[in-house]
Amino acid sequence: MELKQRERLTHIVKKFSIKNDIDILGIADVEELNQKARAGRRPKDLFPTAKSILLFGCGMADPISRGWVCNGKGGDYISLTLSELENRKWILKKFLREQGFHTFGGDIYGEGILNTGIRLANAAESCGMGYIGKSNLLITKKYGPRLNLLYLATDAPLIPDREVEKDNCGGCKICQTHCTSGAILGDGYFHARQCECIINCSENKMYYSSHLNIDCDMCLRMCPKGDMHWDAEEKKNTWFEKIEKKNGG
Ligand code: SF4
Ligand code: SF4
Repeated sequence: MELKQRERLTHIVKKFSIKNDIDILGIADVEELNQKARAGRRPKDLFPTAKSILLFGCGMADPISRGWVCNGKGGDYISLTLSELENRKWILKKFLREQGFHTFGGDIYGEGILNTGIRLANAAESCGMGYIGKSNLLITKKYGPRLNLLYLATDAPLIPDREVEKDNCGGCKICQTHCTSGAILGDGYFHARQCECIINCSENKMYYSSHLNIDCDMCLRMCPKGDMHWDAEEKKNTWFEKIEKKNGG
């Protein structure tokens, strides 16, 4: 496909996404991901005809939408924000199919790009959707770290977004100060296992019942970045009192 046609197609996909509430979207360079991913798990191994990788996100409307709801007798927990994102994924898949293209992957849990050794957050950073903060989370202009991401591989030859956003944490240490496990070391190193042993323990969750649980997430809640921060509402609630106690306030 000619460059002009690719540019036009890219414009159409982005415009459609904005119109359909997929307001955070980036196009990653499939060749770059092929180079970085593990052999056998690269986009070209999993989806040989893929020409582009679409990354898209759904902002969390409030702290509860970050939570996990129990799936009845099955016993599994389902993320509320990811469920919403799943709906948007199908809208995007349908649109690309109508344009004559295939899409692959985009599974919520496991497989695909999640198993290549490339985190979605890092892939999103590579196409300018935000930067990786001290908390190891993707920090975006609109939602800060309060969003979930999905991806789709497609054979649509879209133009990759190459502009990368620079690290904007500066001297901020808020996530490090409030991290319940000490996993955020503040020097760019993040101790993932240390975080997991805290957030998987029901006593340490922000809220836990047999129906709903909300992880620690202090790094996500406290980060000051993001135009659509929910802190004004949050500060009225109990978790903020806990922080004030911790700070001796
Ligand atoms: S979820 Fe909690 S324990 Fe894990 S990094 Fe964030 S603040 Fe630290
Ligand atoms: S809380 Fe501060 S240091 Fe942590 S990710 Fe957000 S901006 Fe960066």
